[in-house]
Amino acid sequence: MRKSKTAGKRRNPADYKNLKCQNSDLDTSKYAKYAPLDGPCKEVVNVPGDVDRVLCSFCTSRSASGK
Ligand SMILES: [Zn+2]
Repeated sequence: MRKSKTAGKRRNPADYKNLKCQNSDLDTSKYAKYAPLDGPCKEVVNVPGDVDRVLCSFCTSRSASGK
């Protein structure tokens, strides 16, 4: 019996991963100035597997508020 598992290259929900907000590392973040005032961001965001940087919604909204 052959079960050829052609779980190909297509994206499926299992390809998503939890990625820390890039403001968890203020040294490398481009958006460090939008990090929480009390330190690096601890938010985790579920993103497609090929994404390697994400800014969480909290930091995004801080950046959008223009300060
Ligand atoms: Zn964040």
